[in-house]
Amino acid sequence: MGKVSIALRGWRFDEDAVFDEDGEMRPLRDMDNETRTRIIRLSVAAGQPCDACWLKYGRANVQQCNVARVIYGEPLHELLLCADHEPDFLYWFREEGGRDLADRPTDFEDGFYEWFDDGNRAPEDYGGMEYVNTEPEEVPKPQQGDMPTLEEELARMDDEELDALDVDLSDLDFDEDDDDDLDIDDPGLGDLDV
Ligand SMILES: [Zn+2]
Repeated sequence: MGKVSIALRGWRFDEDAVFDEDGEMRPLRDMDNETRTRIIRLSVAAGQPCDACWLKYGRANVQQCNVARVIYGEPLHELLLCADHEPDFLYWFREEGGRDLADRPTDFEDGFYEWFDDGNRAPEDYGGMEYVNTEPEEVPKPQQGDMPTLEEELARMDDEELDALDVDLSDLDFDEDDDDDLDIDDPGLGDLDV
């Protein structure tokens, strides 16, 4: 079963949840609640201006705003972004703590707005087009055709699959060195200013 984006990139749907076997969109009443909510929000979001452009130009200059091409976040707390501003979002998501807010939709939305409104931006050459999944319960999947990293592969596996791989962590020897050594050079804890 494939995953598809509809109208805007970002949100992804199980093809079967949205379309019937003839490729026609199912009636909304036949969709599960989550899918229906997102489809309805998409119909509202499609054609809207980019949120980042909006923050930049404001209501007075709405004609300067690009139309959003990407949607992230949760229904009713969506972030809408144009292609120019998607790298800023991705940078915030990956490098500035956005990922940690993914399970708190209001903070997620507000967090990006605040970050962007403070004048923060992605570095000039930041690559933005790689797909990220911002849904907290799902592991980000690379765009089709990209080679997934081992880390992603492992994170995607459930325990059963790991068992099948016969990874025996008990073979690793943690006891050789005395535990007391571990904290001495810890940079994170040493600098705490309480
Ligand atoms: Zn924009």
